[in-house]
Amino acid sequence: MPQGTAMAEYGDDIVVTGPTGTRTLSGEAARPSGDLLAASDGRTPLSEVVPTIGDEATTLAVAERLVAAGLLYPVERLSAFDVDDVHRSLLEGLLLELDADRRPGFADRVQSLTVGRYGDAATTERLGESLAALGCTTSETDPDVVVFVESDAAADRQTVNRAWLDSEATLVRAAVHGPEVEIGPVLSPSSESCLACLTTREELNDAGQQLSYRALNPASTYETAFCSHVLTQLALRAGLGRLPPELVGRLVRLDLRTLDYSDARLFGVPGCEACDGGS
Ligand SMILES: [Zn+2]
Repeated sequence: MPQGTAMAEYGDDIVVTGPTGTRTLSGEAARPSGDLLAASDGRTPLSEVVPTIGDEATTLAVAERLVAAGLLYPVERLSAFDVDDVHRSLLEGLLLELDADRRPGFADRVQSLTVGRYGDAATTERLGESLAALGCTTSETDPDVVVFVESDAAADRQTVNRAWLDSEATLVRAAVHGPEVEIGPVLSPSSESCLACLTTREELNDAGQQLSYRALNPASTYETAFCSHVLTQLALRAGLGRLPPELVGRLVRLDLRTLDYSDARLFGVPGCEACDGGS
């Protein structure tokens, strides 16, 4: 079955949950739909899967409906990528989420993305490897997405903030502090806050520790791998215009030992010297 898809039978109906939502398949099309989804392994072209299931004309019509519904895709859409299973499943999930009319240009859109990387060397290096495997360009010149991984005091936060504000890119920030990983904020070009606002908020909230870390432990390979994987996904989503809106301006903090989790929202600081707080 395609990535992120699950199926359950209830009497004659088949309920399918995929990246784009849940659908109930009923009537005559239910059985061939279920068989088709079960036989779609993300490798075999639909033109080879279809003849193995029932009447070919019927199955073809069913396949077209499943494609339109975002439950199935022609695997040829991913033929431009020469990637391992991890990256392939990431692409498959993203592809299935796109509206059917936007899927034909999927590979071109992914492979024309430019991602600028700043900060923690270990994490950004892994991120770079993933992006290169997908055919994206990594460059700080004219990026579509800026990824910044803080692993220390906010030493070069100002520099990255300036570079981002001077670009048309979406910013994805993360921080790794030992077993604690912080993802966010994600800031779009129209966001009314910036990393200088974050610094101000951290200072203001210092007493409550709401937005501030003081522990500066080195991250292990595990945290680095986790973080770079999440950032790969977010960079692609940002580049494809598929970021969940609720993620913008939000900081999520996760302790990978305990899975303790907290989140906060970054509000712009009115009169911020870098972005003017959106005013
Ligand atoms: Zn600001």
